[in-house]
Amino acid sequence: MTSPIATILIVDDEAQNRKLLEALLQAEGYLTLSAADGEDALASIAQLAPDLILLDIMMPGMNGYEVASTLKANPATAHIPIIMLTALIDRSARLAGLKSGAEEFLTKPFDRAELSLRVRNLLRLKEYGDFLKNYSVILEQQVQARTVDLQRFRTAMDATADAIMLVSRSNMRFIEFNATACKMLGYARDELFLVNPVTISVGPREYLEGIYDALIAGHGTNQLTETQVRRVDGSLIEVEVHRLAQRFGSEWIIVSVLRDISERKQAQLRLQHLSHYDALTGLPNRRLFYETLKHTLAQAADGGWPVAVLYIDLDQFKNVNETQGHAIGDELLGQFSNRLVQCVGVRDGVGRLGGDEFALILARQGQQGAALVANKIREALSVPFDLNGHAVDVTASIGITVHPDDASDADSLIKFADTAMYRAKQAGRNTFSFFTAQMNVDVLARLELEEALHKACDNDEFVLYYQPKVQLSSGRVVGLEALLRWRRPGHGLVAPYEFIPVLEETGLIVRVGSWVIATASKQIGLWLGSSIGPLQIAVNVAARQLLDGDLEGDVIKALADNHIAGHLLELELTESSLMANTERTIAKLQNLKQHGVQISIDDFGTGYSSLAYLRRFPIDKLKIDIAFIRDITTNPDDAAITLAIIGMAHSLKMQVIAEGVETAAQLAYLREHSCDQIQGYYFSPPLALAELEQILLEQKCLPAADDGQEAGAD
Ligand code: C2E
Ligand code: MG
Ligand code: MG
Repeated sequence: MTSPIATILIVDDEAQNRKLLEALLQAEGYLTLSAADGEDALASIAQLAPDLILLDIMMPGMNGYEVASTLKANPATAHIPIIMLTALIDRSARLAGLKSGAEEFLTKPFDRAELSLRVRNLLRLKEYGDFLKNYSVILEQQVQARTVDLQRFRTAMDATADAIMLVSRSNMRFIEFNATACKMLGYARDELFLVNPVTISVGPREYLEGIYDALIAGHGTNQLTETQVRRVDGSLIEVEVHRLAQRFGSEWIIVSVLRDISERKQAQLRLQHLSHYDALTGLPNRRLFYETLKHTLAQAADGGWPVAVLYIDLDQFKNVNETQGHAIGDELLGQFSNRLVQCVGVRDGVGRLGGDEFALILARQGQQGAALVANKIREALSVPFDLNGHAVDVTASIGITVHPDDASDADSLIKFADTAMYRAKQAGRNTFSFFTAQMNVDVLARLELEEALHKACDNDEFVLYYQPKVQLSSGRVVGLEALLRWRRPGHGLVAPYEFIPVLEETGLIVRVGSWVIATASKQIGLWLGSSIGPLQIAVNVAARQLLDGDLEGDVIKALADNHIAGHLLELELTESSLMANTERTIAKLQNLKQHGVQISIDDFGTGYSSLAYLRRFPIDKLKIDIAFIRDITTNPDDAAITLAIIGMAHSLKMQVIAEGVETAAQLAYLREHSCDQIQGYYFSPPLALAELEQILLEQKCLPAADDGQEAGAD
């Protein structure tokens, strides 16, 4: 502390005292000022504040106490030390002096050494006080400046669009963050302090700790990572994070700067969408459609399944565009694409190839599936479009190609489908056409057949024919096989091979099969009460009746409805239908057997069933397939198989019937080898009810073995 020369004000009403003090102090090197009374002193101090005041107590006017109080009450002068000069040495005078603010006392007459000491001490004290005062002002200024800095920094932090968060690695808690962080995450400031970085992160705690520790170890600093953070409501936002680790003493702080990139992500998605999707309809564009087709074809090649490609072109689009304007044209395309999407399954691909051209990919679909979808599209177009309040009829021409029949690569398939589409246009529009001509014919015929069969079910177009089964020992008719016929309007009587496979594929056979069981049972019931009497009827049962239908229910109901015994009904099943779903089939057949129903295996010998296998089923009868009977007298193999079947059946206590017996020689052979029954043209073809009843009433018989007479020749 280098101190300038101190100025001391001497206040005393006695001139002599003033002079003495001046002399003493000047001798010590101080500057002196003097005042003769209190008022003078205050005026002088107001002009120039001294470093110390020597103040007499007893003065006319303002006394020393009053002057001291005044000075100490004023902040500008309160720090100036005061030594009171007094002749009074009593305690009350000192106390009054201290109360008024004086720092020291000096008793008259003055002792020079004491004066010098007191003055020096007080001046030092003042100097120190002044220093402290200045210092705290400086400190205060510094703090103020820092606070402003900090405030400015915080404002800047809060104003940044990025969320900034400081995390303590040791306790994994937030120690600071800016307003953007609160806003981004949806928390109030106090709330965010209560959750931790794991709460807002999508990964588990260990994952986050791993990242932090890597940063602390010096890895991954200055890296931008894309991730997501969880908002208070649980929703996720896409962010880009920049992190760094900062050491504070023994503590590691992780500073994370997060930028919300949701908009950028959306823009990226939009861009990708734009490059792959058609802006007008939102459908995949030509490029994406090709990619999808290629992908589907690769899968189809692996899986060995078909893929159909449909090329669709609106028929009157040009007209609409030219007469009603492009805006209406666009509207039509939009509406059309909506209907198109409704016509396909979720696995199928739809695309707009350009203009009014659309295309479909039907995975795992061949000609039939493609034709069905093409028809669906035509049906979807049968309702007029509402364009600007006008109802407009629009049709489409559709070309179809199928992988692998027509081609196996995307380019060829699309090109061929396009060609087929032109063919459809040439054929008069509003239709579809296959790339392969024969497919056209086949598929159209098949579709027509399916449609007609649906109608046949609804319109009761089916009838049963009956073919007699004859017991060889007696020559008498012991049963009948009910055989389905279709009286198709405009086609006459249609034989089963033309329509049964379609009934089976479409599942209609379940419905028709129930009808056959009901109709045959009804006939048994009717005959029971007539002169024909009890006669067994066999009905053919398709595999799907066992799998999808309620065969037991159908049979039990038919028996009950017509009050007939179970043994009058026989079910003919093929080996292949027994193979499907064995356990359930055995259970069903056993249940039916409980009701007395007879079970026979039709077309036996063609299905390679083993004996052991057949034993598991409750079978009453084997029907030797017509294929073995045909050449039984000329082909030793067929004869051997027939004999084996007869032997095997008998050893299993089953009956044997030969079907397709056409000649006396076949009959003779079968009779000779103990076949139980025969069925075939030799005795009678399948007959309509009236004709059948005729021969039943006539009691037509097979001639006895040694008669050598022709069948029916009574
Ligand atoms: P299937 O059950 O083996 O019936 C015997 C077939 O042989 C009948 O043909 C019958 O007319 C024919 N047939 C009878 N005797 C002779 C003969 O001496 N020579 C020749 N060449 N053929 C003879 P259909 O009536 O055309 O029936 C064919 C097949 O259709 C049946 O074979 C059966 O598998 C199926 N079917 C017929 N009706 C039904 C039915 O109601 N339901 C089911 N699921 N299938 C049926
Ligand atoms: Mg049969
Ligand atoms: Mg048969």
